[in-house]
Amino acid sequence: EPLPLAETFRYADLKTTLAEPHQLRLKPDVSELKFGQIFTDHMLKAFYHEALGGWQKPEIIPFENISLHPAAKVLHYAVELFEGLKAFRGVDGRVRVFRPDMNMHRMNLSAKTSGLPTFDSEEMLKCLKRLIAIDQEWVPHAEGSSLYIRPTLIGIDGTLGVAQSESALMFTILCPVGNYFSSGSDAVSLLADPTYARAWPGGCGDRKVGSNYGPTIRVQKKASKRGLQQVLWLYGDDHQVTEVGTMNIFMFYINEDGEKELVTPPLNGLILPGVTRASIIQMAQEWGDFRVVQRTITMNEIVLLLKENRLLEMFGSGTACIVSPIASISYLGNLLRIPTNEHSAPLFKKIRDQLYAIQYGHIKHPWGVLV
Ligand code: PMP
Repeated sequence: EPLPLAETFRYADLKTTLAEPHQLRLKPDVSELKFGQIFTDHMLKAFYHEALGGWQKPEIIPFENISLHPAAKVLHYAVELFEGLKAFRGVDGRVRVFRPDMNMHRMNLSAKTSGLPTFDSEEMLKCLKRLIAIDQEWVPHAEGSSLYIRPTLIGIDGTLGVAQSESALMFTILCPVGNYFSSGSDAVSLLADPTYARAWPGGCGDRKVGSNYGPTIRVQKKASKRGLQQVLWLYGDDHQVTEVGTMNIFMFYINEDGEKELVTPPLNGLILPGVTRASIIQMAQEWGDFRVVQRTITMNEIVLLLKENRLLEMFGSGTACIVSPIASISYLGNLLRIPTNEHSAPLFKKIRDQLYAIQYGHIKHPWGVLV
């Protein structure tokens, strides 16, 4: 009789093997840290084997390489997904994770897209908290820095052929990241080239699967070659604005009625449902200072609003930088200058300050989840 499939791994089954003193790494000076280069001492992992009944017991182990069959589905068909969230050391010395429940939910949605096994978000979160607690000294003490958390799920069947993977590996690694807000203006320049699209109707642009990212590198390189920092992803004949780099996008402008309005594209399948995006929408709605609207934005509209001096700010939103102000867009041979950084009290800064205050425990808020 086969065992019933274990539908989740469980925190109660978590086995921990701590690194030996000689395995511990030197903690870097965060002021010199580039994103994603240095990892902490431990990692979390859990295997899924259909033949063994499903999810196996999760483990925290010393950070190590993983060994895969050369035919592993992840390596050929990108049967994989990932998440990105952060832990912050608060002013009170305690470590908080920002809205991790949202990432766990999104991770399960991505798993369904790739035919990978889902799991109980709460159990996963408890395992994550334990991992962060073990490596808590890696959560930088410097203001503005954080610990990036990268949960990953890969299909590891050692068989060629595009098919559901009957075995999978969930692992989570951690890396300290320095202050994103270095001094000076951090407003970015964008390449908006309608030749390219990152997502399309019926695709999976709304899921955090690796196959959405690899093929964007050539476009990012094209932008860099032209001295531009990020790609503004367009879609369709009307050049709809969808996302910027790996961020959601917002526009703050004066509408036809002469009122200020914050607008962001709707979750229509072309857009990753960002945790920061959702948080900004909710916060701005609670402030009630201006209208908050989810609707399509086109490049034509941006050109028109600029002409009429009605475009105030544009910014990207994401875990990496909270908000990233946009300074210019290179579009069909024109450089559109966006006045985001030219206001005395810009909205993007108010949003950044508010989320920062929650993340670093300056204000108590349910979005800052204690480890
Ligand atoms: N869009 C894309 C394509 C992304 O990869 C990310 C980063 N996860 C975002 C938007 C922003 O999402 P979040 O606010 O959850 O970081």
